[in-house]
Amino acid sequence: MIPSTVQHYNFSAGPAILPHSVLATAQSEMFDYNGSGCSIMTMSHRSDAFMQILYQAEQDLRQLLNIPSNYKILFMQGGASAQFNMVVMNLANGFKRIDSVVTGNWSRIAHSQMGKLSDVEVHLAAHGGDLYNYTDVPPVSEWDVSADSAFVHYCINETVHGLQYRDIPKPDGLPPIVCDMSSEILSRQINVADYGVIYAGAQKNIGPSGATIVIIREDLLERCSERVPDIWNYQSHITRQGMYNTPATYPIYISGLVFRWLLAQGGVAAIEGINRLKADKLYSAIDQSGGFYTNPVKAHARSQMNVIFYTPSAQLDQQFVLQANAQGLCMLNGYKTMGGMRASIYNAMPLQGVEALTDFMQDFQRRYG
Ligand code: PMP
Repeated sequence: MIPSTVQHYNFSAGPAILPHSVLATAQSEMFDYNGSGCSIMTMSHRSDAFMQILYQAEQDLRQLLNIPSNYKILFMQGGASAQFNMVVMNLANGFKRIDSVVTGNWSRIAHSQMGKLSDVEVHLAAHGGDLYNYTDVPPVSEWDVSADSAFVHYCINETVHGLQYRDIPKPDGLPPIVCDMSSEILSRQINVADYGVIYAGAQKNIGPSGATIVIIREDLLERCSERVPDIWNYQSHITRQGMYNTPATYPIYISGLVFRWLLAQGGVAAIEGINRLKADKLYSAIDQSGGFYTNPVKAHARSQMNVIFYTPSAQLDQQFVLQANAQGLCMLNGYKTMGGMRASIYNAMPLQGVEALTDFMQDFQRRYG
């Protein structure tokens, strides 16, 4: 047990840290939302109170990401994993091929799943594993894509391998771009109009698990076949204002509070600056450790959200995680297949949390280096 007087910082990759003020608001409204006498959790999704929460969450997300009016927003269930297939069911009807860029664990899984419910060819447009053993991302200019494909799918930030695309693909000559933004949405400014579909599980940079954001360009909705069941058809959810079936009401409510929090911080532009500072601080601590800490990722592809690092041995890694945890620096263990450490420093992680981590890293190195 960590003494309760210790300041805790949660570096989990997801479900992940949420702003303290958001949790405090949720706590204060737990039993009685806005004088209704009910918790959001126990309220009908068709109640005026919840409908207003959903509407406001959508408006706030639209403002935060500057989402153009020809894009629809959905809060779906099934996680980002369900989107691996849903984008195919909705966008690939009548097409022979989709292009898929593999840059790490999640796009590799997406690639393995996308062809399962369809005869469409899932063409490997680039493979960061084969090329660089997942220590770099294949440049967009080298993707082998066809303008005739239904879309090209890629993952902008690989949560497990700690890789991120800095240069965002421009749509010229590319088919519509479908992007998994699960672990970086709202962390930096993007141009939504460059994308056909953006999807993201909420449980990293937005809210609790259970809600998945889908942002889709309107014209692409026409592609879906009548044979796709309504539950898997984006249009059926849009036509029913997100109420085709019961949405994940509580995760949507918390996501809405997070959007409000982010707007109060100054929006995505403001948080982007802080995120850059945090990542620079952490990577500098690694790079200036004289080789005691290492990160295998090429500098230009290092994730600003998920920072992986290693000490000289697996035993020391274990000690690091244990001792850091005892000091309130929680959930720093690396992904199960990766070992080492992973510090996820999403929007809600304050700069002080990263400073506490880099202080601990220096102290640990003094004792074991
Ligand atoms: N994509 C990325 C980039 C992820 O980090 C994750 C989850 N860690 C997923 C997809 C899968 O998300 P879910 O568990 O919501 O299906």
